Amino acid sequence: MQLNVLQELRHNLGAVTTYDVTEPSVRFEDSELKGVSGTLTLLRTDRGLLATLKLQASASERCARCLVEADCPVEMEFEEEFMAVVNPNTGARVRLSNDEETFRIGPDFVLDLREPIRQYGLMAEPAKPLCRPDCAGLCPTCGSNLNEGACGCAPVVDERLSVLAGIDVTDEKGK
Ligand SMILES: [Zn+2]
Ligand SMILES: [Zn+2]
Repeated sequence: MQLNVLQELRHNLGAVTTYDVTEPSVRFEDSELKGVSGTLTLLRTDRGLLATLKLQASASERCARCLVEADCPVEMEFEEEFMAVVNPNTGARVRLSNDEETFRIGPDFVLDLREPIRQYGLMAEPAKPLCRPDCAGLCPTCGSNLNEGACGCAPVVDERLSVLAGIDVTDEKGK
């Protein structure tokens, strides 16, 4: 997820280079992307390189229904400009304004994709990840994982309906 881009920075404005990206695992402080594959395009801009990255990977997520950890597919696509802090031809330091929130290519000319991948990965995380689309979830009575088979509890929905049949439930609404 890090590559030396000195060559790319020495290209003419508008030059495009494309790379295949594959990485068995990209680890972050509290998460990990596995089976990362995708395409990186670098376009030479007047200030650095415009990186377009399309990635597919999988991330371990806790299923919203059955609470089991499962690998969920993650897709991300982003375009970010990386600004070079050193002129690749002259070696002169480039003055970048500090209040500009951009990714930077340091004096070593290494373009580091980890931080944008981490940021976009967080956004790409599903709000309600499921271990599989038809996950049966947990039994509300005994907590058994219903994906592993029926637990033998009486069907809850019917029970509740019969209990509530004679009661006015409007006051309970919204709770
Ligand atoms: Zn599940
Ligand atoms: Zn049960």
